[in-house]
Amino acid sequence: MSEERKICIKDNLEHIKEKIHDAELRAGRKVGSVKLMAVSKFHPAEAVIEAYKAGQKLFGENRVQEACGKFPQLTEKYPDIELHLIGSLQRNKVRQIIPLVTCIQSVDRIELVDEIIKQCRKLKTEGVDKKLCLLFEYHTGEESKSGFLSEDELMAAVERAGSASDCGIICSGFMTMAPFTDDKDAVRASFRKLRELSERVRKQFPFLPLDELSMGMSGDYEIAVEEGSTLVRVGTAIFGERNYA
Ligand SMILES: *Cc1c(COP(=O)(O)O)cnc(C)c1O
Repeated sequence: MSEERKICIKDNLEHIKEKIHDAELRAGRKVGSVKLMAVSKFHPAEAVIEAYKAGQKLFGENRVQEACGKFPQLTEKYPDIELHLIGSLQRNKVRQIIPLVTCIQSVDRIELVDEIIKQCRKLKTEGVDKKLCLLFEYHTGEESKSGFLSEDELMAAVERAGSASDCGIICSGFMTMAPFTDDKDAVRASFRKLRELSERVRKQFPFLPLDELSMGMSGDYEIAVEEGSTLVRVGTAIFGERNYA
């Protein structure tokens, strides 16, 4: 009989936190400066609850439909759960996702910024006090397809969103996905590219926060921490393999 390893979410979380801690020390960074997000896509609510009971508060989902099916009940029962959207977002789903998340990490085109502003304005006129953080996703790796391809377009989107702070929009920072490859140098180069971009954009907009760097996943989060990540998005290493059936 094959020996099936039982996934222990609590142990996985602890192990990853140790690795993050070690990488922070290696890179001479302040201990505790990197946040760990648990990416729960394709995993059931029970897995989220197990992680929550092990102390995990920050979660990420990459599809609106799945997030809306799973999280309203969870956040009602556990109000200190925080959810970010990390996957590509269609304009017609913006209105639906905003109430459920504190951050949209996958802002990848200016039309999306316009729709987010429109919906936040509407909420404000309805008397809803919503704070919504945005991360601008930048394309840094050959194989991935998401994110702004042009730095100028990203700058324009930051400027647009930055002018909408009156309706609760906060320009928090940047996100990227490294290429899926075993080539560690290519992965590191991708993270470095995001950090360098962030420095240029911050110089342009010194009055915006823009200090979050969301980079690093199960296979590469240690490299990401060494390259300045402030938030790693880890799915498989916490919850096990996803079942895409
Ligand atoms: C799925 C996903 C992750 C997590 O990936 P793992 O390799 O399972 O850790 C991180 N970021 C984004 C945008 C994702 O879609």
